[in-house]
Amino acid sequence: MTAHKILVINSGSSSIKYRLFEIRTNGRKNSSRYVILSKGLIERIGQEGSGVKNHKQGIQILLDGLVSGPDAKIGDHNEICAIGHRVVHGGVEFKKPTIITDDVISKIRECFELAPLHNPANFSGIEACKELLPHVKQVAVFDTAFHQSLPEYAYIYGLPYEYYEKYNLRKFGFHGTSHQYVAHEAARQLKKPLSKLKLITCHLGNGCSITAVRFGKSVDTSMGFTPLEGLVMGTRCGDIDPASVIFLADKEKISLEEIDRVLNYKSGLKGISGVSNDMREIKKAAKQGNKRAKLALDIFVYRIKKYIGSYIAAMGGVDGIVFTAGIGENELDIRARVVKGLFDFLDEKKVKVMAIATNEELMIAKQTFQLIK
Ligand code: ADP
Repeated sequence: MTAHKILVINSGSSSIKYRLFEIRTNGRKNSSRYVILSKGLIERIGQEGSGVKNHKQGIQILLDGLVSGPDAKIGDHNEICAIGHRVVHGGVEFKKPTIITDDVISKIRECFELAPLHNPANFSGIEACKELLPHVKQVAVFDTAFHQSLPEYAYIYGLPYEYYEKYNLRKFGFHGTSHQYVAHEAARQLKKPLSKLKLITCHLGNGCSITAVRFGKSVDTSMGFTPLEGLVMGTRCGDIDPASVIFLADKEKISLEEIDRVLNYKSGLKGISGVSNDMREIKKAAKQGNKRAKLALDIFVYRIKKYIGSYIAAMGGVDGIVFTAGIGENELDIRARVVKGLFDFLDEKKVKVMAIATNEELMIAKQTFQLIK
């Protein structure tokens, strides 16, 4: 048996989440087992009173902890054979996980404009690892990559075509690593090849998106140019009439920046209910008779149902509907409400409804290992 260690890093603006995997490969059986040796979170990076000044220091702390902390898991950093990084936006350039070279770094930089909140933070983690462990191979795994298989008619908006040509203004889609992971897992559980299945995967967390996975490929997805499009989410509005933005700017006399904040942070479940962005709080309030909390739940469920219906039409059928992330995995009654009525026209014996825990870190570790081995 051989063992390889892969470190997975998800570097956010003020935090770094990490997991150290050991991949145990049995040569004879040609099978691999992914075992988590260590996991953790470095928080409050760059914030006042925090002991962690920047991402480089954060990465240094986590690397030190792996060799000499109370929970040390490796004797030496050279034992890490590769690092897999989550990168939110890969633009049109990255269709699959990619080994990080200087050229790749400059292309990730070009995508900053498309994901100003996320890509620079992901990038800080990459730069810190390159500086601290220059000999270790690094791989970027993009949230957008899985959706690069969308057909042109699904990703082009009904805007003047020149904006697509000039700025790449088009649907990209997000949560790709999660949709891809649960689609694979669903195929495994159904004991059928992914290449023969039509699946609809619903990632329902704070951010929510839904994807049509036809024969293993994403053919449509609800998030768009940014993660704002599609389903009603914790604090994001999802689909609205774009003209309402112009109307609001005029009526409320607010700037575009303020409207951006309204759409991203003050809308969705939180904005409709006036209670919270957290599904558990909204359900509690609805049970106590809060009408707007009940309305938020109804809208949330209805929007998912509409997307599922449209993706069944887009794929010409469905074999499985998969729910994942905080709400998708834990809220049985939301799942039941979403699928209620679907079996009036679908065969209950042929379409499986599944709740599958997502594991983006494991997917990143697997894709990193496949690339370097
Ligand atoms: P994020 O997108 O931030 O990773 P999560 O996947 O953790 O979010 O999902 C958060 C949502 O899941 C919240 O609305 C929360 O109320 C809901 N949720 C419902 N049940 C649970 C549970 N048992 N544990 C965690 N979150 C839950």
